[in-house]
Amino acid sequence: MSANESNRRIKFSYQLDNWNYENGERSHLKSNAKKIIPSEYAAEMDGTLFCPACFTNLNRIPKEKDHFTNGREAYFAHVQKYKDVKCDLKSIKPEGKRYENWEEAKKAIDDENLVIISSFLKAKPESKEDKPAIYDETPVEDIDGPTTEVAIGRHNGESFSLPSKIKTVAGLCRSFDENLYKYFYLPGKNNAVRLIDLLKDVKSISEENDKPRFYYGRIISTKHLGEHKRPTNIRMTFLHTDVAGDFCLKSQDKDQRAHGITDDSVGRILIVYGTVEINGSGLCFQGLGWGEFSLLPEKYNHLLD
Ligand SMILES: [Zn+2]
Repeated sequence: MSANESNRRIKFSYQLDNWNYENGERSHLKSNAKKIIPSEYAAEMDGTLFCPACFTNLNRIPKEKDHFTNGREAYFAHVQKYKDVKCDLKSIKPEGKRYENWEEAKKAIDDENLVIISSFLKAKPESKEDKPAIYDETPVEDIDGPTTEVAIGRHNGESFSLPSKIKTVAGLCRSFDENLYKYFYLPGKNNAVRLIDLLKDVKSISEENDKPRFYYGRIISTKHLGEHKRPTNIRMTFLHTDVAGDFCLKSQDKDQRAHGITDDSVGRILIVYGTVEINGSGLCFQGLGWGEFSLLPEKYNHLLD
């Protein structure tokens, strides 16, 4: 991977006038800054763009144009002045995050930089049963999980007891831009990793995988099977893939519909936490729990394109 490609992990920069790395409050930057993607850069923003991970200054490269002469899109890069500030968005291979002690990990949770996920919600919450299924617009609250022993200590296998969340993928898709740069601890892991480094595009997936992980894919077609199109019939929702065979989400139509997936969902991005299974000559996600998949709100599509 070239240095150029590692910079493509910086999907947006914070833009805020009259803020600086040395004296600025990070919470002030986070709550007041605009989030600018490389194509939205304008010359007057020079000096007011900051990294979403380390908060030092960024430049857009190239500065004057949205594209390089070879057609590649512009990107954000750290500036030389802060080359000594550690930022994992500068590295080619992202490393998982570990914490010095319980206090440091707990502070990261309190500051909303770290989320311990104990599990994903399996079944639809009871109270939502009677409400109309406008899932996209319905906020999905995450539930507090048990205190969980997590092996994210910096020192040889050390673990801490920390509060966890029972998450839904839909919950992650809300404020998706903010969540991209948070660290998430997933069940059974021994470090925390930024969401942006956990999401894998299904287009290059060519084999089954029985370990659950995060995937995303663009819906290219979707089909409700069966003559009578009963809600309990299967809907096959196909995702863009560059490898041989197809890749789909396979589940009852009523289940997909409750997540906003209908005949009108072509072009949308699906996010999944699950395993990859064989389906005929292709691959699929199936048997997913209620909280294990969601459509990404369209306003965030550009962050994964
Ligand atoms: Zn940075």
